[in-house]
Amino acid sequence: MSTKTGTIGVTTENIFPVIKKFLYSDHEIFLRELVSNAVDATQKLKTLASFGEFKGDTTDLKVSVKVDKEAGTLTVSDNGIGMTAEDLDKYINQIAFSGAEEFLAKYKDNAANIIGHFGLGFYSAFMVAKKVEVVSLSYKEGAKAVKWSCDGSPEYTMEETEKAARGTDIILHIDDEENKKFLEQSEIDMLLRKYCRFLPVPVTSGPDDKTVNITEPLWTKKPSELTDDDYMTFYHELYPGQEDPLFWIHLNVDYPFTLTGVLFFPKIRNNFEIAKNRIQLYCNQVYVTDSVEGVVPEFMMLLQGVIDSPDIPLNVSRSYLQSDTAVKKISGYITKKVASRLEDIFKNDRADFEKKWDDIRIFIEYGMLTDQKFCEAAMKFVLLQNTDRKHYTLEEYRKLIEPAQTDKSGDVVYVYTTDPVSQYNYIKAANDKGYDVLLMDGQLDSHFIGLLENKIEKSRFVRVDSDVTDNLIPKEDKKAADLTPEQRDILTTLFRSRIPKVDKAEFLVNFEALSANADPVMITQNEYMRRMKDMAAMQPGMSFYGELPDSYNLIVNTESPVIATIKESALSALSASVAPLAAEITSGNEQIAGLRKNAKDGKLSDDEQKQVTELEASVDKARKAQEKVISNYAQTQPVVKQVIDLALLGNGLLKGADLTEFIHRSIQLLK
Ligand code: ADP
Repeated sequence: MSTKTGTIGVTTENIFPVIKKFLYSDHEIFLRELVSNAVDATQKLKTLASFGEFKGDTTDLKVSVKVDKEAGTLTVSDNGIGMTAEDLDKYINQIAFSGAEEFLAKYKDNAANIIGHFGLGFYSAFMVAKKVEVVSLSYKEGAKAVKWSCDGSPEYTMEETEKAARGTDIILHIDDEENKKFLEQSEIDMLLRKYCRFLPVPVTSGPDDKTVNITEPLWTKKPSELTDDDYMTFYHELYPGQEDPLFWIHLNVDYPFTLTGVLFFPKIRNNFEIAKNRIQLYCNQVYVTDSVEGVVPEFMMLLQGVIDSPDIPLNVSRSYLQSDTAVKKISGYITKKVASRLEDIFKNDRADFEKKWDDIRIFIEYGMLTDQKFCEAAMKFVLLQNTDRKHYTLEEYRKLIEPAQTDKSGDVVYVYTTDPVSQYNYIKAANDKGYDVLLMDGQLDSHFIGLLENKIEKSRFVRVDSDVTDNLIPKEDKKAADLTPEQRDILTTLFRSRIPKVDKAEFLVNFEALSANADPVMITQNEYMRRMKDMAAMQPGMSFYGELPDSYNLIVNTESPVIATIKESALSALSASVAPLAAEITSGNEQIAGLRKNAKDGKLSDDEQKQVTELEASVDKARKAQEKVISNYAQTQPVVKQVIDLALLGNGLLKGADLTEFIHRSIQLLK
């Protein structure tokens, strides 16, 4: 054959400058492309051998990557099928595609997309080389070696040459500007490790031709041939410096798509590690990316490991990936597989599952919150933990609490704590009443509770301190506090006047006839408001709730002997002086109401309006006088202050000067 020259069959005259310019950021991909092509060439030979179309030896197939710094070349060699002059013409010269330039412009931000889309694999060499030579000898009998050369212009030359061994050498004359680093062995080692670590054919590099890859990585083997140690070793190879994983799942599907892989449940210590050690995506053992968004469901981003599938369209944009039906199927499959594996572990070794629960609950709760299908499956094995650190499935737990914790409307009330230390008092009171208390102190639990309320029929969750224990689960026969309106007025003012000012907190005095041995005063926080505030803290859009002060109920237990004593002395000390004021208030209010009622067409005349204003002023004056009388009296009653402070103390609300004063008063009272 005589030397042939020609023009490479791209529709765009100047494709190379375009490649160089637009593929700038992802230059290093060229090595992955060339080594993958080389590996493909060896695999094709194997296939041919299996059909009997190639009779030679296929046990020594390999790829080598050589750096020659002096010559300024990087050579990727293989002993695969090789190419004849016709092959080169067909596969390399005639890369005909339409609208290349527009496409390049469109996808200029993601070089990986273009390369795969157009089969530009080989041409990616021009991102780093000013000249590329291909020297190849086909496996075909009587084939002649051929040398192809191109200096980056659309013209190439092709001529016969000498080559002793079957296969292909791709020789890159690295261009001397910013691509010089590709002549450093250390850089090449790093790239081979990143992209070629698990290729199925030995890849050698470096002065001593060391093999850089593992040709049969763990995920390509049968689970039955592997030990726990094998998985652990593989995990630590992938993610050095990590703690042992909790579980793993070996994925293996042939139909309707091909997918293999191993997913690990890591011990998550912090968010930084989640971001760093991610699932790696491979395509026939070639590393593609660790951006697996869209391929695996979002909650599985917390997992680690490897997914290998030739069926994932890897070289397209992410939005396309997410809408791809094959990808959706894959994502659904992985979800199903992970859920069923978790269920197996739960069924086969519940003790172990419970032991690891604290580490996996965030994953399971996140999965249930974000993935409908996973949620359905997980209802069987998601665990609830109570304050005794016992674990229950949803079904077991409902059975446990149903007898004692069903309210009068038939709802089963799940009582929970978010902080077993600071809410200890309430937990103890609930336990004493025969209620079980759940531990809901996980990061996602405030959302998770909402999900469970939705999923479990006739259920309601209440935090243990959201009301006094007797009211947490409303039952039929509730006793009301036995107070006349006047007594209620006096006692309300008495207690309110001794509540200290707590920053960003509001207290509402309430009376309840609880059991005699319950605390005299208790502080509770409305479940709904508290949830809103909790959510506001996590979601910036809800700042309205965040701005509101915490509102607490100060519950006075009228059945407590301490309160009975306080009540008695207060009434006997105050009745005489308060009665005339109370009468004035009542009569004033009655007169105002009378005037309003008789007003013509609901409108007061000027004269009537004047009377109302005067009456209001005198009612207000009487009320202030009454308040004054009661609060003056309150100041002489250290026990009132003491029982309020005890309740505040139990909730961590007594601080600073108020706390010091409390201590002094306690000592005084002991004298
Ligand atoms: P793709 O690999 O996507 O088909 P490439 O541009 O990388 O696109 O390669 C085009 C074709 O050139 C390949 O399909 C293959 O037939 C041939 N080829 C490339 N490299 C080699 C090689 N090392 N050995 C044999 N054939 C090769």
